[in-house]
Parts: sequence; structure tokens; C-alpha cells
Amino acid sequence: MGKDNRWTTYNEEQLCELHALAEDYKGFMSTVKTEREAVCEVVKRVQAAGYRSLDEVVAKGESLKAGDKVYAVWMKKTMVLFTVGTQPIEKGLRILGAHIDSPRLDLKQVPLYENTEMAFFDTHYYGGVKKYQWTTIPLAIHGVVAKKDGTVVDVRIGEEENDPVFCVTDLLIHLSKDQMAKTLGDAITGENLDVLIASKPLVIGTDTKKDAEKDAEGAEAKELVKKNVLAILKEKYGMEEDDFLSAELEIVPAGKARDMGLDRSMIACYGQDDRVCAFTSLDAFLKVENPEVTACCLLTDKEEIGSVGATGAQSRFFENAVAELMDRCGQYSELGLRRALASSRMLSSDVSAAFDPLYAEAYEKKNAAFFGHGIVYNKYTGSRGKSGSNDANAEYFAWVRRAMDDAGVAFQTAELGKVDIGGGGTIAYISALYGMDVVDAGIAVLNMHAPMEVTSKSDLYEARNAYVAFLTAQA
Ligand code: MN
Ligand code: MN
Repeated sequence: MGKDNRWTTYNEEQLCELHALAEDYKGFMSTVKTEREAVCEVVKRVQAAGYRSLDEVVAKGESLKAGDKVYAVWMKKTMVLFTVGTQPIEKGLRILGAHIDSPRLDLKQVPLYENTEMAFFDTHYYGGVKKYQWTTIPLAIHGVVAKKDGTVVDVRIGEEENDPVFCVTDLLIHLSKDQMAKTLGDAITGENLDVLIASKPLVIGTDTKKDAEKDAEGAEAKELVKKNVLAILKEKYGMEEDDFLSAELEIVPAGKARDMGLDRSMIACYGQDDRVCAFTSLDAFLKVENPEVTACCLLTDKEEIGSVGATGAQSRFFENAVAELMDRCGQYSELGLRRALASSRMLSSDVSAAFDPLYAEAYEKKNAAFFGHGIVYNKYTGSRGKSGSNDANAEYFAWVRRAMDDAGVAFQTAELGKVDIGGGGTIAYISALYGMDVVDAGIAVLNMHAPMEVTSKSDLYEARNAYVAFLTAQA
């Protein structure tokens, strides 16, 4: 294996490029912890790179031509980017598709309660989580509160040096005899993943004291910790308790992306599934100017809960955006759109499981992904006999292999783990519904779905280069 380790192959210039990419990535990951924040940051970046809003182009009735760069956003949570190619769009696009949502704890619609003079936010976890991993770590709150008057307030607490953080408590070891006898899956319940947010009662002044005394017997004078929280929220965000009903507030691990390892060869942070592939796909996409085949980068939401909803990969957003693009290029017809989608080639940019020698029994070594060995291709994913998988076409993967080899890009192939142990899915099977060729291609991740996931900087660099090779390969 050693001879294939990419770290041993780099010259000074490549190392310099690799480190610049890793620094940029850490900055991105420290800024972006939700799908909305990802869209916001990517829009900023692509506008600076000369991309225009497709909606604006449509509204102004302008037309597009080869070399033009546009983006479209839907509900502030999913987006797609195009660089128009010289070849007619109906001959197909080259698509990099990644997801920008990650497992987390979402606030319930009625989240706030007080119990024994402590205030909590009640949550409902999003995506696949090992619940015990989310206790006793510093947490932050990111998201929006949409008010009845139409205003939307951004919330981001727990990331600045002087911000407070939050946590899900866990029972002390001294009293855990019963808990420790439970299985890992049962010991922490979803209903107990509540976030401790306050412990100080509202201090009642002389004026309010009269009121308080008035209804001293009633509930009004109780729950003063909760009342204090509401007063803080009112002051800071102008929100009432009912405004939680129309909020999207996500509890995520607090803190920045960090170098990991004495050799600083790895990166540790939250949300690398799948923003590590979103970031590298975007970086690759932005490197491709004036392509022959129209280049596309799709950043989608809701993958972790089945790619559902208006912003998930199953929605018509992507198809509609391609239709608008073709229309602006003077190439739209219903048949042309169908041909474009069916003739496209796609890499479903999603992470794969990195081999973990401490849990070697879960992997089958010949078909496992290793740190430092380049982008990982998963011909198929799924579980219990490839169920739910897109199984990429052999002829297509032969083309992908050639594209990688021609560009001198290293890659590895893998399955998620041993056959009967589990499995997973991506957005590949959804794009494949159009008839297009698609295969999963991403970065190996350790601790996938944990609050702190780990990747290799080398794989970050190799994946970016592989994505460029894919976008620019000869048909
Ligand atoms: Mn994923
Ligand atoms: Mn995932």
C-alpha cells in the first residue's frame, strides 16, 4: 500500500497547492455549518468568480452563450451552477453533484421548556446519528427565524470566541450502573437529546413584581428561567415564543475546522459528509473555463433524510434549471431537455468510509478506501444486496477510469464496508432516473456522521483534481 500513498508522490509545487486548498477548506468549513450557510457562502464565492443569477438573466430576457456562467438557488437551501459549453446542451452535461446538509439536531416546533429551573430546547435529530456522540460536547445554534411580518432573522450562537455554547447532558458515571448495562443504541434516547440553554431566573423588578405577586398562585409567576430566555430572545432577535413555529434552528457542534495529527496531514471538523465533496466539486468546477461540454455543479439538500422535499435531489429544481438554461441559450425543447438529461455524465460527489484499523472487522480490505490513496469510486452503494443503490454501468466506469488515467489522477475503489454489516445511499440513483451515467465519487471520511469527522488533506487535493479531470475529459 505504501507505494500508492499519494503523500510520497508530491513535489514542492503540489504540496503548496495542497496546503492552500486545505486552508481554504478549513475556512469554508468554519463558516458553513448548515445548508443555508453553504448556499450563502457559495453564492458569495461564485459571484466573485463572475457567475450571474439565472433568475436575473431570465427576468431581463437576456440570452446566454458558450462560456457564460450562471447559478440558480432554490429556497436558499439548494443551488446549481452552470458554465455553458460550446457543444449543444442536448448532447449532455458534465455534472458534479454533492449534498450540503449534514446530520444534526433540529429544534422541534415547540422547543422551549423549563424543568427544575433549567431551560432546554427539545430537538428531533436529523439524519443518521449515534446519539451518544452528541452528549457533553460544545454545541452551537445556527439557523433562521421567519416571522409573520415576513422578516427572517439569522441566528448563529456559539462560534465566536466569546459566544456561549450549549450542551446535551449525560448521566455521571457514578450513577450509571443501569445506563451502562444498556446497548449503545438504547442508552441515549432521541427524546433525551435536549439542549441545556439556561439556568438563571428572570430577576423581577418592583414594577413587574406586583404583577408576579398578583398571579403568584398561577403558572405566570413560575418558569422564570424560561421567561428569562424569552426576554433574551426578544431583546436579541425581536422574537416571541410563537416564532419558533416558523423557525429552522439547527444544533451543530461548535468550533472551527482544525488540522489534525502531529504531521498536520488531516482535517477534523463537523459536516464533512458531504461538504468536503461540495467544496472540492465547487473548487474544481470554478477551475474549468470555456468547457466543450456544459459543466454543472449541483449542491443539494435533504440527502441525509432521503433527498426528499422541494430542496432535495428528488425535486424538479435541477431539471427546471436545466430547462431555463437551455431556453436562455436558445436550445430549449421538451425533447431537447430530455436528451440533455439522458446524455449527461455525472459524478455523485459523496463521501465514502475510510478504513479504520481499530474497527477492521467491519471492512473488507480489498474493497475498502484508505486515507492518502485518492478519490474513492463506489460503483454501487446500498445495503442488504445493493438494495437502494445506483449500480454504475461498466462501460461508463471504463470511461471514467480512462479519464482519470489520461489526466494522471489517482483513484481507489471501495464498498462502504462488509456485505452484511450495513450500507448507505447517495443521490446517484435519483439522477440515474433520467437515464444518465452516474457513479459515486468522493473522499474517504473517518467517524462519518460523528460531530467530528476526519479527512486526509491529500484526498481533498486528489478529489479536487479528479473532479477537474472529469469535467474536462474527452467524450
Ligand atoms: Mn453523504
Ligand atoms: Mn451521510
